[in-house]
Amino acid sequence: MECSKVKKSSQNVRVAVNIRPLLTHELLLGCTDCITVVPGEPQVQIGSRAFTFDYVYGNMGSPSKTIYDDCVAPLVEALFHGFNATVLAYGQTGSGKTYMMGTSGEGSNSGVIPKVMESIFKRIDSREEGVEFLTRVSFIEILNEDVFDLLGVDSSSSKKNEEAFLAKPVVPERVPLQIRENKNGGITLAGVSEENVTTKKEMALHLSRGSLSRATGSTNMNSQSSRSHAIFTITVEQKKIAHTGAGGDISCVKLHLVDLAGSERSKRTCAEGMRLKEGIHINKSLLALGNVISALGDEKKLKDGGHVPYRDSKLTRLLEDSLGGNSKTVMIACVSPANTNAEETLNTLTYANRAH
Ligand code: ADP
Ligand code: MG
Repeated sequence: MECSKVKKSSQNVRVAVNIRPLLTHELLLGCTDCITVVPGEPQVQIGSRAFTFDYVYGNMGSPSKTIYDDCVAPLVEALFHGFNATVLAYGQTGSGKTYMMGTSGEGSNSGVIPKVMESIFKRIDSREEGVEFLTRVSFIEILNEDVFDLLGVDSSSSKKNEEAFLAKPVVPERVPLQIRENKNGGITLAGVSEENVTTKKEMALHLSRGSLSRATGSTNMNSQSSRSHAIFTITVEQKKIAHTGAGGDISCVKLHLVDLAGSERSKRTCAEGMRLKEGIHINKSLLALGNVISALGDEKKLKDGGHVPYRDSKLTRLLEDSLGGNSKTVMIACVSPANTNAEETLNTLTYANRAH
């Protein structure tokens, strides 16, 4: 058995694997399960390959709620100690990224994001006296290296419905946003909608509204194929109110919840023209992300002032101040256990292993 090298991952970058169950249609087609989880170990085997990660979920009946507890709760906690954080869902289309993240906003309590919202407000509600919190959200997508605002467009507009009716890809005419970097190295998006929220319900509404605007198009792999990276960002500003009435000690942190575009190779989806161009951009930014995370995991190289290639894609530029440095990152690689997806599953595990 070929076993990948077990590396000690950086404290600030964790990698988990989530294996979804075989779906009914896969069972009906006679698909078999091609992934084995080593009991009691965060290790998976596929064919002759074995990979070790920080955590492995699924296939062994482990309840999915532990994904939140193990991987994401520490990031939410870190927010309240002044750290930026990023959760990345990686994997081929149909591997369960949106289901695991809860990005679609459907089923208000399933997935990681609703739990994040709940614990943020629980934390804010039990704040000590003299501390004030301001919370806001933004929701953007990156499609073909362009950044679009998902909260800025009216998702119920007749224009969008008309386009859907004409069975064209739902890509409303939108103006791409520009990435700006401030003097302190903080990253901002010029003109992005930032919605102030005071309750979980308000936050969830923006999530649902934005996910309706998310561009989807059809490839012959999955009619709901997600070709864009969706980034839901929660900003928490903390303010200490001095007894004199003057404010002070402001900390402002961000948590990015990222539902990445499908990682499948464009060749396999028989994409052509526009779709193929999108496939190329997707692979470029996922490659850039892999390179950044891999560079961040190499602590020795980082100490020697090693280069982290953030500038290679919009995705890594946008996440620059929330990946590495003092920030906390978790990548959750989602995989299908079906033998028919074995090649893509192996690609995903190899990618995630590089990040680990
Ligand atoms: P992706 O976002 O990676 O394209 P989805 O989240 O849309 O994948 O999942 C693909 C399909 O698999 C959906 O029908 C979803 O309901 C189902 N699915 C994903 N994860 C699970 C799970 N853990 N349990 C049951 N069904 C799941
Ligand atoms: Mg999805």
